[in-house]
Amino acid sequence: MKYVHEYRNKELSQKLINAIHDSAKGEYTFMEVCGGHTMAIQRFGIPSLLPPEIKLLSGPGCPVCVTEKSYIDTAIAYARLSNTIIATFGDLMRVPGSSSSLELEKALGSDVTIVLSALEALKLAQNKPEKRIIFLAIGFETTAPGTAVAVDQASKAGVKNFFILSAHKLMPPAMKAIVDEGIKIDGYICPGHVSAITGSAIYEDIARKYKIPCVISGFEPLDLLQTILALMRQVNENKPAVEIQYTRAVQPNGNTRARTMMKQVFTVADSEWRGLGNISKSKLILTEKYQQYDALKMIPVEVEPTISDKGCICGEILKGLKTPLDCKLFGNECTPENPVGACMVSGEGACQAYFRYQPQTETT
Ligand code: SF4
Repeated sequence: MKYVHEYRNKELSQKLINAIHDSAKGEYTFMEVCGGHTMAIQRFGIPSLLPPEIKLLSGPGCPVCVTEKSYIDTAIAYARLSNTIIATFGDLMRVPGSSSSLELEKALGSDVTIVLSALEALKLAQNKPEKRIIFLAIGFETTAPGTAVAVDQASKAGVKNFFILSAHKLMPPAMKAIVDEGIKIDGYICPGHVSAITGSAIYEDIARKYKIPCVISGFEPLDLLQTILALMRQVNENKPAVEIQYTRAVQPNGNTRARTMMKQVFTVADSEWRGLGNISKSKLILTEKYQQYDALKMIPVEVEPTISDKGCICGEILKGLKTPLDCKLFGNECTPENPVGACMVSGEGACQAYFRYQPQTETT
């Protein structure tokens, strides 16, 4: 566990915990907007180490969770077409649509296959020229560059049977939308992986205009404790700024090559988010040059009307208004084995994180 146990050091953790307790001068509400952080915070029991004045909220950081239900319905409609293979990340398989799921469609005979990357989907297309391959392109700035590379390679190689159904989303518009909606956030625990691509400048607006401290965090206990302390100090001194705690992975300029590729292939558009509704300029769609790879433009499909979830409060959880423990279905009707909503399906979802790591759920 070299390079990991250093970030789980007990003595250093205790020092940070003491500093956090000593720094508490009022109430603080901090939100993490990364599914990896949601998992790590619950896994390491971070909330139990903090003074009661600090409240941690899970935000819209899990890519599968924020993907709108109508997108799942569209993917299912495509899966039902003949001569078509849906290539998807595994987590999407079990997300319920309005009347089915990709997993169920596969069981009924549709060709749905799990891939680990957009390039794997492209390879599938090259190996099966007689089929249409539709890659379900979801995720934030972290996974979008990989899709961009695959589309560009498809174009250069003249591949005609590769398509993407884009639900790539951008993180800053969602962070702003949450504050615009009046939800009280005193600081953002900013995503480490997204920031490794984007750099830190994307949060400047949030710190300057919205006056909300932003600290880009790593995923180990020392990272998270240090981040929380940094946020508290910014709040206490009333000096909101963007800081990088996760310096071992995130540079202020991010990954310029990845961003250049994204800019070449994608442009921004408005998008629906689960729970957050329509957010302006929050989605990546293909530019004019790459239209022939856009499944929605190239392959007509009839999609059933989307039915809203009954009883599932995933949308409110993604806005930080409720926690999984507020859901009546949590742990009984809805479990990782039998998920009712996206937040329980995904390994980065708040409901699954609570189910796996909250003590009160161990007996369920
Ligand atoms: Fe939805 Fe299940 Fe979470 Fe409840 S526990 S909010 S039903 S995903």
